[in-house]
Amino acid sequence: MIDEKRIFYYCPKCGSKMEKKIIADRERDYCPKCGYINYVNPYPAVAGIGIYKGKILLIQRGIEPAKGSWAPVSGFVEYEEDPEIALLREMEEEAGVKHAKVLKCLGAWTDWTPTYGNVITMVYLVELENNKVKAGDDASNVDFFSLDEVPEMRFKCFKNAFDILKKEREKWNL
Ligand SMILES: [Zn+2]
Repeated sequence: MIDEKRIFYYCPKCGSKMEKKIIADRERDYCPKCGYINYVNPYPAVAGIGIYKGKILLIQRGIEPAKGSWAPVSGFVEYEEDPEIALLREMEEEAGVKHAKVLKCLGAWTDWTPTYGNVITMVYLVELENNKVKAGDDASNVDFFSLDEVPEMRFKCFKNAFDILKKEREKWNL
């Protein structure tokens, strides 16, 4: 399902009325006058499951989607930004994490959210150097949980990542 906000009824380049056309096996909005095609792709996001001495850092989400729920730090990758750089930036912005090491990418999954439509989230495991954390942008709270205390996750990407961690808990001392 394409998010309504991403459908163009008029061409953003020349203002002509858009038409529907099958291009590369999918129906897309197409401008018959200038040829502009509205390719709608998922937005790329990153998430970081921070670990420190066997505990897991989560934030309480301060904004939609899933406002109020506990989740890993996450955010969108900016234009020309590498995902791991985006991840460390978000860890600092949302949770005040200044020193962290990326251990591995647990996977990447597509979710549908009412706020943004389709989002692909690359979920990383991150080792924190200390437990100095503080709720920042987009987070109303931060806290550490044991793996067994981690609440039910609202998105497939986080559910899948924690399923992997449960299988690998000995490897990461969780
Ligand atoms: Zn046009």
